[in-house]
Amino acid sequence: MDRYDEIYRQSVEDPETFWRSEAAGIEWQQPFTLVLDDRRAPHLRWFVDGTTNICHNAIDRHLATRAEQTALIYVSTETGTEKTFSYRDLFEEVNRVAAMLVAQGVTHGDRVLLYMPMVPEALFAMLACTRIGAIHSVVFGGFASSSLASRIDDARPKVVLSADAGSRAGKVIPYKPLLDAAINLAKHKPDRVLLLDRGLAAPAMVEGRDLDWASLRRQHFDARVPCTWLESNEPCYILYTSGTTGTPKGVQRDTGGHAVALVASIKYIFDPAAASGEVDAVSGRRTFFAASDIGWVVGHCYIVYAPLLCGMASVMYEGLPTRGLDGEPDAGIWWSLVAKHRVNAMFTAPTAIRVLKKQDPSHLTRHDLASLDALFLAGEPLDEPTARWISEGIGKPILDNYWQTETGWPMLSTQRGIDPTMQPRFGSPGKPVVGFKLRLLDEATNAELAANEKGVLVIAGPLPPGCMSTVWGDDQRFVDTYWSLLDDRSVYSTFDWGIRDDDGYYFILGRTDDVINVAGHRLGTREIEESISGHPDIAETAVVGVADALKGQVAIAFAIVRNAASIGTPQDRLRLEGEVMATVDRSLGALARPARVHFVNALPKTRSGKMLRRALQAVTEGRDPGDLTTIEDPTALEQIRDLLKPPSSTPH
Ligand code: AMP
Repeated sequence: MDRYDEIYRQSVEDPETFWRSEAAGIEWQQPFTLVLDDRRAPHLRWFVDGTTNICHNAIDRHLATRAEQTALIYVSTETGTEKTFSYRDLFEEVNRVAAMLVAQGVTHGDRVLLYMPMVPEALFAMLACTRIGAIHSVVFGGFASSSLASRIDDARPKVVLSADAGSRAGKVIPYKPLLDAAINLAKHKPDRVLLLDRGLAAPAMVEGRDLDWASLRRQHFDARVPCTWLESNEPCYILYTSGTTGTPKGVQRDTGGHAVALVASIKYIFDPAAASGEVDAVSGRRTFFAASDIGWVVGHCYIVYAPLLCGMASVMYEGLPTRGLDGEPDAGIWWSLVAKHRVNAMFTAPTAIRVLKKQDPSHLTRHDLASLDALFLAGEPLDEPTARWISEGIGKPILDNYWQTETGWPMLSTQRGIDPTMQPRFGSPGKPVVGFKLRLLDEATNAELAANEKGVLVIAGPLPPGCMSTVWGDDQRFVDTYWSLLDDRSVYSTFDWGIRDDDGYYFILGRTDDVINVAGHRLGTREIEESISGHPDIAETAVVGVADALKGQVAIAFAIVRNAASIGTPQDRLRLEGEVMATVDRSLGALARPARVHFVNALPKTRSGKMLRRALQAVTEGRDPGDLTTIEDPTALEQIRDLLKPPSSTPH
């Protein structure tokens, strides 16, 4: 048996022993009395009775040995800013924000919602919440008011932290008006909004509710706030993710298991050298650069928590991958940061690499990438041409890894921390990660499948530490959504199709549900449909995700108008298409905007009224729609097929 097989097998056959040993990767204030309590499975409790604090482990714990070492490198090519913070600086900044929150009455168990751009203050605030035992819920800045309002209503935050604006490609995106609109829409009203004014878009302040971040920071400049020790299973954060209903799910993550799993992920997957205490010969530290956003799970884990838990420096980047610090085009900006800051591990999504692929390739070879051990890619399928292009371009291992907001760390990956010779295979994110018992089940019979058979990818319980503990405020929804494939609730469904080859490498073949993945970002088609239906001229709509060379997938909408006369001319259609897109922009954000809105007379449904989404998606992608015996009106698909035909060229 090779080393991977041996360690993996131990991790899943005797999880208690495996995780007891991994738990030594963090400091506990009180030791745990039980590794795993699964009496209420699938609700688990890891490291029962152990008390700890993630902020203590990410900052305070390092002060004795690396107070002056760089902890955070902040780069914004949007504002031309570059700043570094040592662990001591970080300690002070986080204490200030913690004191600001305490002064607003925030205590243990309260929720704090962050609607912030990529600024260091957002990272300080997340850690400040964990320091005082408050539960943070970060909402991606690209979401607009109605998405934000539904999250405010679900999390019921005491305080919201926000900023005047974000910026994208030099264009200022004011956040405050979106936040105000969201609070107006929401039933729950936060007591306070703490607003960071970056000087980008003068914010209108609401008297008695909104407070200025900079003045509060001055007031609490010398504050020291002790860490609140939490029982391992107390929630650390809520992160909303899209599903098949219009209501987003609050993925709840615990404290102890979360920290232990992230440290294990650095050790086994992302930077085994950092875990074993090695440092970069030039920088004297290890440096991690996750080019993601704090609003996504990758940002939570690999911009904020994991690198700091492991005493590394983390690079936080605001901006496009194709713009330099001077605001001029520079497709080599990321590589220049790798060279300048001696980045040892880098992480981004395949879409970003596909963007770079469209630029002059000389940017790949202009910078010294000697410090970089590997480039990690995740969040969406990594196509082989993109993987080959970047692998040849930078001459480094490209390590695809597969996971979800729910699992909190990779389920499939190359694990160089177990076996440095483990090789990636193009098209596959790798083999099961320690702790994850992956299985493939037949779609119709739920029987377990052998190699080379396509099925639904599931995790047999217990889920390892770091995975979601429940849906915030709705334990039953957690069980019903993820654990209902088998009657005995013994498997968690990933809602992804997968296949395993003879050597145990897995391949991910897309979602089994109505979730789509646009540029590595997950969206529920149902949410987009609800938003489109908000336009007064639209009677009914169906949204599907279709393959796109750059973004992986894009949303395409098909809509029936209430009054056919309203789209009598091509100009009318264009106008309405623009209006529908603007409706989605306003309620959900530009990320969810469909790439096209096609107006049709009928949508393909079964006789019982169920939308034939797979058939609609197939036709939109020019594929065979498969079995259509249940379709009510076959002309619906024919019309769509005709509509999508490229206009025939006029013969000369
Ligand atoms: P999210 O929760 O937003 O991270 O989205 C998770 C989903 O993204 C998964 O269920 C997959 O459908 C997809 N996904 C994530 N990583 C990969 C990967 N490496 N390869 C293929 N699909 C992926």
